[in-house]
Amino acid sequence: MSEPLAKIFERLIVATGPISLLQYMGEANARYYASRDPLGAAVSGSDKGGDFVTAPEISQMFGELIGLWLADIWARGGRAEPVLYVELGPGRGTLARDALRAAKRVGLAPQVHFVESSPALRAIQAAAVPDAQWHHDLSTVPLNAPILLVANEFLDALPVRQMVKTEAGWRERMVACEAGRLVPVAGPRPMDAAVPADLRDADPGTIIETCPGAAAVMQETARRLAGQGGAALFVDYGHDTPRIGSTLQAVRAHRKVDPFVAPGEADLTAHVDFPTLSQMAEANGARWLGTVAQGPWLRALGIEARAASLSAHAPDHAAAIAIAKERLIGEAEMGSLFKVMGLAAPGWPDGAGFGPNGG
Ligand code: SAH
Repeated sequence: MSEPLAKIFERLIVATGPISLLQYMGEANARYYASRDPLGAAVSGSDKGGDFVTAPEISQMFGELIGLWLADIWARGGRAEPVLYVELGPGRGTLARDALRAAKRVGLAPQVHFVESSPALRAIQAAAVPDAQWHHDLSTVPLNAPILLVANEFLDALPVRQMVKTEAGWRERMVACEAGRLVPVAGPRPMDAAVPADLRDADPGTIIETCPGAAAVMQETARRLAGQGGAALFVDYGHDTPRIGSTLQAVRAHRKVDPFVAPGEADLTAHVDFPTLSQMAEANGARWLGTVAQGPWLRALGIEARAASLSAHAPDHAAAIAIAKERLIGEAEMGSLFKVMGLAAPGWPDGAGFGPNGG
């Protein structure tokens, strides 16, 4: 077994001083995902269960409706061939498998490109979607065809930078080592120039968060939509109006844990800042179709009818299908916390489920 990441961080911090929260979260998640499959239900009394469950793992309906959304906008956009299905952070490959199966039934059979950094998850994805091609980032995905891009719970895993207001002004949030424990601290360097002017005089203790990785992904996706054509769906836990405060959290075995204990052993996430990302997408040439809550979006796409049809074919499973549907769309479950952001190339049509024009 490799040395715990906490020990490596401790040694680095003792030798060279506190590290940024950005570096801490980036390296912790790289270690976390590289070595395991974190997706799955809890197994009581065992550490064999997963740490968290995502929408495609709850029900095939999620991936199928995404596949039908892509096929619909592709068909109305002129049925381009060839066309690329691109998924960022495909997890177990379940969403892709379900989406591609549903899309194929309505005539869409794209080439498949996965952006995935984890060797452990690549192996599982290869079993689910054998003809996929893998990439470390978007830069090597071909440039010669429209893209139909999907990312579910991908952006929330990318590392955030935080600024904290102190009595002495704004500072970057760093991770230090005190009495053998990793702890968040305010860094020494003034960062006031990096903070929006209207927040310069915020109360001490105020925290703001940015995600440079999500911004880079959004810029590249938007530029590719503008240059290659296509459409994109980003689904994640996040807010649809601007917010301040830290949203960093750690989850292990379906429980919230301290993000500064056992880095690399828990899933670190932060809420996705959809308003900033949609502005970036538009500034880089994409058309923003809208950002809506997952529940209404799946309802607009026909999840009720899909659930009824699955239940009719498998009456023994009707109760389980009803529970899964409720987890995906229920107000108290994923239905309102999760948002779906749609983008399209200029000249491509509106997308289903995004309001009066597209709905
Ligand atoms: N989309 C899947 C999995 C979500 S978990 C689902 O909904 O079930 C996050 C996924 O993103 C994992 O596949 C993880 O390995 C991948 N990932 C996280 N950070 C990444 C990075 N920087 N580059 C590429 N993939 C990354």
